[in-house]
Amino acid sequence: MTNHQEHLTHRGAISQHVQALPASGIRKFFDLINSTDGVISLGVGEPDFVTPQGIRNAAVKSIDDGLTHYTSNYGLPELRQLIAQHLYKLYGVEYDPASEVIITTGVSEAINLAMLAIVDRGDEVIGPDPSYVAYLPTVLLAGGVYVPVPTLAENDFRMKAEDIEELITPRTKAIFFGYPCNPTGAIMEHDDLLAVAEVAKRHNLFVISDEIYDRLVYGVEHTCFASLPDMKDRTLLMGGFSKAYAMTGWRLGYTCARRDLTEAMMRVHQYITMSAPTAAQYAGLEAMRNGEEDVRGMVAEYDRRRQMMVGELNDMGLTCFEPKGAFYCFPSVAITGMSDESFSEALLIEEKVAVVPGSAFGQFGVGHVRICYAADYDELVDALKRVRRFVERHRPK
Ligand code: PLP
Repeated sequence: MTNHQEHLTHRGAISQHVQALPASGIRKFFDLINSTDGVISLGVGEPDFVTPQGIRNAAVKSIDDGLTHYTSNYGLPELRQLIAQHLYKLYGVEYDPASEVIITTGVSEAINLAMLAIVDRGDEVIGPDPSYVAYLPTVLLAGGVYVPVPTLAENDFRMKAEDIEELITPRTKAIFFGYPCNPTGAIMEHDDLLAVAEVAKRHNLFVISDEIYDRLVYGVEHTCFASLPDMKDRTLLMGGFSKAYAMTGWRLGYTCARRDLTEAMMRVHQYITMSAPTAAQYAGLEAMRNGEEDVRGMVAEYDRRRQMMVGELNDMGLTCFEPKGAFYCFPSVAITGMSDESFSEALLIEEKVAVVPGSAFGQFGVGHVRICYAADYDELVDALKRVRRFVERHRPK
């Protein structure tokens, strides 16, 4: 062994910040799903739809036309322009496509850019619990501390501004959330967000708003956080294509923020990925130009499944508030007397239905499971029959 290798071994191969990352509860569970045959998986959070044909064609055409090079680090100018127009049309918020928009490799990259751009070592970032599995690790990797705000079933899993305010310290840098919410399907009403905006203003905090599910709302209107009074300059808005256009595999998203924050995120982006995949950006252009009807069709179908699933779950005793966004139900499994982990494992083994234990999303997800309804309707009906059978078998007599 050379001296250099000895030195590395002595220090340990894996960096301390990676060692500090929690193991993903979801990943552990997916290993179990993958090793079981004939499973109906309601575990993965992605559309069952294939990307609409027109969008696929546009990407193929770009490749056939030889558009295979890097784009600008910021992304294709036409795509940035269309995103800015889209946000203006839907939410009335104005971004300059030349200096306030970056096309990213999914919202996954976008949230990492936001954290790396604004978080200093030891800074605190307040966000909901339960929340999307990547939020806490993203903050940790940037050297920050994720401070969870409990969100509870009795409040339809909405964050309360007063709960956020109680957690603010001199080290608090930002509030970080995503509504509609993965894993709960919760939304924040306009007034809930106005109250959060007041807190952000009062304490001079940034807000990172992950709005990847903005188009997937049912019977309510989405409020874009940046569109609230005085919020554009404090908000780092994250948006994407994965969910609304069924484009998870393309790896396409974007950030919108005021110019200096965009510049800071760009400094990170240019060294990490340089630019989002070019064919995916051409697909995104087509999605923005002509994807509206496809989005409406998919949302209507998700809504049909949602209504059926919420009704069924409540009827069999798995109490579930009505989720008004994303494509998840988050029922309580209390009626079975089992923990969320035991419930999910036993359901998988006995009935071959995969759901995800709520505790994988934070301590306040305990006692619930995440069930994704982005699956074929008939398959959902079949899965729910199996869940009902399981609950009846395990319900204490
Ligand atoms: N944010 C939330 C809340 C998500 O649920 C997901 C994916 O499940 C992502 C971000 C990642 O999105 P993307 O595919 O754009 O990286």
